[in-house]
Amino acid sequence: MSDSFKELEELKSVSVGIENDEKGYTDKQCPSEECEFLFKVNSDDWLNIFKDEAVWCPMCRHEAPADQWFTIAQVEHAREEAFKVVTGLVEKSLSNMTKKFNRSQPKNSFVSISMDYKGSNSRTFTIPAKAAEAMELEIKCENCHSRFSVIGSAFFCPACGHNSVTQTFSDSLRKIKAKIDNIDVVREALTTASSRDEAELTCRSLQETCISDGVVAFQKLCEGLYKPYGEAPFNAFQRLEQGSKLWGKAINKEYNDWITSDEITELNILFQKRHLLAHNEGIVDERYITKSGDSLYKVGQRIVVFVEDVEALLEILKKLSDGLQDGCGVV
Ligand SMILES: [Zn+2]
Ligand SMILES: [Zn+2]
Repeated sequence: MSDSFKELEELKSVSVGIENDEKGYTDKQCPSEECEFLFKVNSDDWLNIFKDEAVWCPMCRHEAPADQWFTIAQVEHAREEAFKVVTGLVEKSLSNMTKKFNRSQPKNSFVSISMDYKGSNSRTFTIPAKAAEAMELEIKCENCHSRFSVIGSAFFCPACGHNSVTQTFSDSLRKIKAKIDNIDVVREALTTASSRDEAELTCRSLQETCISDGVVAFQKLCEGLYKPYGEAPFNAFQRLEQGSKLWGKAINKEYNDWITSDEITELNILFQKRHLLAHNEGIVDERYITKSGDSLYKVGQRIVVFVEDVEALLEILKKLSDGLQDGCGVV
């Protein structure tokens, strides 16, 4: 039996390395099928701070042991690499057998049989999985100090499960501001790279996501801060009036303690716009007109989100969150 055949028989596992990105972060992915959120963790912290028993998803807080957080891409890569190694070993042993067979042919026989086996360019070693590009939002947990990064937003520390709602919220506002501040750059780049039409489409969609990002961030902040006071009804903080009343009962302060009635009206319109964008492709319906009191639109029209809308949203949400954090005693 050839050595490589033996090697193949004894092969129990193939290890495939995983590369860090340029910032020293390694890719992870939530193993929950409903989530599959991609994020990165600082590789040193992964070794030193993270525990084997439990890692939490920064997005959905799914909990699973540390060995279950390989990304789908890493697993596929490892599978391909393992397959290549096994194929490589099979080919190596086949070619050794061929050589042996050919060597053992009697020289004086009338009929000469020789085996011909051309192995492809097989290899018996693995290539590590490449790291995905660095992610923009870098977060350091205020509780366990582990560092991780995400695209978009994160709500939980993957190392300790801690939910820093206030930090997450300010990160989200920062991100929305970055989006809106860069909108002209994006428009210009896209106009050059593709077309004016596509540039407009993309920028419009970008502006619209700012509204939903802001509303969702505020909702998560409220849900997090509200926890000590009990269970809030599902999605209660997506509705301004209901949210405000809940705070009134919990900490004796309502939204009008921190923002003017004009600001409440404006914020309400933006919350209703988010609802339309999320559930009705942005097309105005009766419900929108009744709930928002927005007289600029008729049923059937499509709403527009302006840069000024996003700026107003950021300003008002900041005031509300300052008030809430003060009221809940977390600052
Ligand atoms: Zn998840
Ligand atoms: Zn932590």
